[in-house]
Amino acid sequence: MKIRSPIVSVLGHVDHGKTTLLDYIRGSTIADKEAGGITQHIGATEIPNDTIDEICGSFISALTIKDLIPGLFFIDTPGHAAFTSLRKRGGALADLAVLIVDINDGFKPQTYEALNILKMYRTPFIVVANKIDMIFGWETHEGASFKESFNQQAQSVKQALDTKVYEIVGTLHKEGFQSERFDRISDFASQITIIPISAKSGEGIIEVLAMLLGLAQEYLTEQLEINEDAPAKGTVLEIKEETGLGLTVDSIIYDGVLRTNDEIALMTSSNEVLTTKIRSILRPLPLEEMRDSKKKFQKFDEVVAAAGIKIAAPNLDDVVSGSPLRVLNDKENVEEEILKEIEDITISTDDE
Ligand code: GDP
Repeated sequence: MKIRSPIVSVLGHVDHGKTTLLDYIRGSTIADKEAGGITQHIGATEIPNDTIDEICGSFISALTIKDLIPGLFFIDTPGHAAFTSLRKRGGALADLAVLIVDINDGFKPQTYEALNILKMYRTPFIVVANKIDMIFGWETHEGASFKESFNQQAQSVKQALDTKVYEIVGTLHKEGFQSERFDRISDFASQITIIPISAKSGEGIIEVLAMLLGLAQEYLTEQLEINEDAPAKGTVLEIKEETGLGLTVDSIIYDGVLRTNDEIALMTSSNEVLTTKIRSILRPLPLEEMRDSKKKFQKFDEVVAAAGIKIAAPNLDDVVSGSPLRVLNDKENVEEEILKEIEDITISTDDE
């Protein structure tokens, strides 16, 4: 048994800052080479525990984060259909979610939509109240923790921030959730954490990373246990044409091991099961190497969950985005399992 990184999805209304948040997290970890950087997957970015430790420094040791969880596995495509409307059986693909809300704008239609999905799947989530740098009078402290920056603000600014945070608390209350600013929470099991941040200046992002690791460690370790020898289970994000490779499927593997030459089952747009044999498993070439090479991908003989990979294989024409992916060890059972899973799925073509 191995404990994999939790799959984290960032959800929220358009323009509230999903992309900026993910870019900041990626950027700050890439910059921090000493810390070991990040692992680039297809459709996802994994930030190792060590890197988070390094970035969060003394803040994280104060939280006594142990080394149980290898890292955080962030999905790069916010609001992707595969994470929001698919895989009803067994819940959403994401183990943890970040619901992002523009602190000055409050809840908008897609915030409610995202919240309903999280409710339906019972996905644990934190709320980040973004764009605190836009609060009138806010003095920005690039990359600081929220606490550090907040303590240096004028009294009126502190009050303005709290008023806005408690508006979010009020909205969440109407939606059936108890919530509180993260540093005032008495019980993490029953209260939703709200972290004020600026995805642009990085203020508060330390707390976001530390909180996600902490919650995963506290509440998810059982769910994150995987069998490294079991046949892989995954979800298809996208079907893509690649020069020299033909049609490929980009997938997130959340359990087991996937190997070249494995026979896999996928779902077609007409809800039928298609089987094919993996020709190659690919991941992006590390950034440094990509510059000196015409190649975009590197090949792997096998990958263990959690992994974001591109699969090259014959007959992928009719595969549908959001399809379950299973390794076929015993064909009939897998077909049956996939068909059952498919029955419960409504494919949404909406990306937001
Ligand atoms: P998405 O649609 O949720 O992915 O939102 P984006 O990340 O694209 O952000 C929408 C706009 O808000 C962009 O112009 C960002 O630069 C801006 N933005 C995002 N986060 C912040 C923030 O913390 N502060 C400020 N001032 N602007 C932000």
